Parts: sequence; C-alpha cells; structure tokens
Amino acid sequence: MCGVVGLIGEEKAGQKLYPALFALQHRGQDAAGILSYDFERSQFHLEKDLGLVEDVFTSERQLRLKGSMALGHTRYSTIGTVDKEDLQPLFLSYPYGIGMIHNGNVTNYDEVVDYLRNRKLRWTFSRNDLEILLHMTAIGLASRKESGELAQNLSESIRELLQQVQGAYSAIGMLADQGLFAFCDSHGIRPLLLGRKKNGDKYSYCFASEKQVFFGLGFEYFRDLRPGELVFVDKDLNLHSFLLSEKKARPCMFEWIYFAGSETEWHGRPVYEVRLNLGRILAEEVQKKGLDVDVVAPVPDTSRAAACRLAEVLEKPYREVLIKNRYVQRSFIVNQPELRKMMVNLKLSPVESEIRGKKILLVDDSIVRGTTSARIIRLLREAGAEKVYLASTCPPIRHPCFYGIDFPDGESLVAHKKSEDEIARVLEVDGLVFLPLPRLQEGLGLSNLCSACLDGDYPVPVATEKFMKTRHHNIGGDGKSEVPL
Ligand code: SF4
Repeated sequence: MCGVVGLIGEEKAGQKLYPALFALQHRGQDAAGILSYDFERSQFHLEKDLGLVEDVFTSERQLRLKGSMALGHTRYSTIGTVDKEDLQPLFLSYPYGIGMIHNGNVTNYDEVVDYLRNRKLRWTFSRNDLEILLHMTAIGLASRKESGELAQNLSESIRELLQQVQGAYSAIGMLADQGLFAFCDSHGIRPLLLGRKKNGDKYSYCFASEKQVFFGLGFEYFRDLRPGELVFVDKDLNLHSFLLSEKKARPCMFEWIYFAGSETEWHGRPVYEVRLNLGRILAEEVQKKGLDVDVVAPVPDTSRAAACRLAEVLEKPYREVLIKNRYVQRSFIVNQPELRKMMVNLKLSPVESEIRGKKILLVDDSIVRGTTSARIIRLLREAGAEKVYLASTCPPIRHPCFYGIDFPDGESLVAHKKSEDEIARVLEVDGLVFLPLPRLQEGLGLSNLCSACLDGDYPVPVATEKFMKTRHHNIGGDGKSEVPL
C-alpha cells in the first residue's frame, strides 16, 4: 500500500508536494519520493530515499524540485524490497521521458516480465511491479508515436496495459513536455481521486489517493477516477478522459475499515461517517451477545470513531485506556532485540486507573494476525481489568490479500480455518464480536466491494499463493502496522 499524488499547472509543483505528502504519510512510511518537471528548461528533477517524508526532503532537496508538474509518493513495501532501486517514482527516458508512481500490486508479474524480456527485449532492474507498468506504457507510446494524437495514443497504450497486466493498481505518470496522466485497474480496487483549482479560464489539476491532499493544496475535490479510466491533462491544462474497461467496480473494503485517513471519502462514502456507522451496527451485535460491559475503549487510532458511536448506543462510558506514543514510529530500525522490545512496549501503554477492576469492551477496526490483539488483551489483564471483550468492525479475515495490503499468507491469519470461538480462545479474550459481512456492506452502503480476504471471492485472478508470498518481503507483525506488537 502506498500514497500517490500528481500535480500540474502550479508554480513550484514539486516543492508543494512536500507538504502534500504529509497527508499521505500514513499510507507508507518506508520511503518517499518526488519527481518534478520544468517545462521552461525541459528538465526533470528527482529526489527519493528511504525514510519518512520529513527525513527525505531536506530544504536543499526541496529547492531542487523545480517546475509546474510533479509526482509524489510515500512507500509501504509489500512487493519489491526496501532497497533504493525499488523506490518510486521510477523513470524511463524513451519515448518522451516518462515518470511514474503507483499504489497496488500486479498479480501476474512473472507473466508480464516474461513478455517484456522475450517479446520486447526489455529488462527490468527492480523488483517493483511499477516498472512493468512503466515499460508497458512506453512500449504502447513508442509503437504509436509517429501517428495520431498523443491523448488517443496514450489511451490505446493504457487499454492494452489494462488487458495484459492483472492486479489492483492506481497509477500516475508524467510525459516530458506533454502532461500528466492517471489510471486505475479495471475494477478500481485502489482509490484515486481528482481535484482541481481555478487557473485563469482553465483549471490546475491534482490526482491523489486521498481527499485531504486537495484541502492542503487549496484545491477542491472534483471526482473519483472510475475503474478502468484514464485521465490525461495536457500541458495546456485540457482534460481528456477515456473509459477503457467495462468491468464492475470492486473497491477494497479495507480502505474504509483501516487504511484510509478519516478525512477522505471514496465512492461518495466519507470514511469517518462509515466508521461511525460501523460502530452503531457493531453495538447491535454486542447487544445480541449480552455482554456485561463497564467501559468502551478504542484500540488507537483507527477505531476511535466506531468505539465512540458504539459507546453512545450502549450508553456506556467511552474511555481511552491505551495511549499510543506518537514518537515511537519505526522500531523495526532498532537492531538489538532487547531495545526493540522496549520500543514496542513503549508504543502502547495502559492507563491503569481506567482499567483496574473494570469489564472493558475493546473496539478494534480489524484483527489480522492477532499478535497485536493478544498482546493488548494481556496488557489490560496485567493492568487489573476484570474482564476483556473484543469487538471488531471487520468480519474475520480468513484469506490472504494479494492486492497490496500486507497479508499475503493465509496461514498467518488468526482467523484462517478457525471458528469465532476458536479465535477467542487463541486471543484469550472473555468475549469476541465480529461484524458479519452483510452488516459491513450495510454500514458502507455498498455491496460491490472487494471482500476477498473475508469470503475468498477474488475479483482479479492471482498467480499461486506461493508465488505471491515469495514476492512479498514484509511479512511479520500484525499486517496493519510497521511495528509488530
Ligand atoms: S482482499 Fe481484502 S484487503 Fe485485499 S483488496 Fe480485497 S478487500 Fe482489500
């Protein structure tokens, strides 16, 4: 999972993407990068490195990002490595000079790499699947560059790409001296939004994974990109749109559950409002189980809205019984196991005065590997809780995700091949409540979701699970956090 943003028509576009990337930092903390293009000097400028946005972009690096068109990326590595050659944006010099970023995973990677090597004599240098999107775009444009309009040529190139490259991906690219483009896979599994700002009698445009980027840049949200849609904004700020696939939308339900920031919306469903809805519905499921609860507490941070609403419905006090230390971000870079354990302990600490002698209903957004939940439950017991119950706004996650969320290994999921009672025993919790899938759909107001990790109904074919596991490097922890708890 990653955060992507592209901007055209703004002075100092590259420099403006530095603050914009902070709005997408939660989507990836492994690395960050910005590629800008200066139309006056016909020059690209690229800055990217491992680390958080504020670590990567020193003021000198920011100043080098000249030009009025730019791409920005925050990286969470699920496929590829955290080596420098895998960092985005990636770039090819022919034709035009193409830069690109993406969010998602390609599920037929080997097949496309074989095609590139054996049929097109093109080699890949990284393990990043963005590189094959970049090559496919370049091949399509190069074969058409002597004829036709660029927008039309680009649309034909991306149409071929969508047919050949399977997976879940939202990509943004730029063409030297030509403009900015963005497209989504045929099912639109990953989000991509379009914003705009008046610029004379035209508009400047911005593509981004989440809506709050537009607010930060002074843009207005315009609309979502549709599944299989290509949007091209040329250098004169004319917008060209092409719908290149007729397949049904299958947006990832996990965006609303966990991944997206509370401030954004997608498919007309505001994330915060959805999380409140899920809290209300989850309260009804808790009531059906007849749990005797003293206080309702969120597992910070994503589940706050749901826990708050759930407490209102149950008419029980809402308390913060776990405090997340915002400064302990990246304990995986601490190499000594003892220090690393201390960092992990410091990341979430109990408020003993609110826990002792209480029957606590913990609300979490989801339970993936269960390692975080088990540790938190133990923590509350050690702090004197009389009983600990757990309620999850997400149904049991029983199947791997191959579309860019970091749980490609079914065996590592706590709910894999287990009943809810068995899961409760593993987690050593006094009561466990999951939202059933139909009630999740009700809370979201959408029934066409990708929910493959819940019901095994994969909208896009996947190479074997074994292959996808070998492509993922980041297995570990709870599947939701960079810090295994
Ligand atoms: S499998 Fe689950 S996490 Fe992966 S895209 Fe589908 S809904 Fe999202």
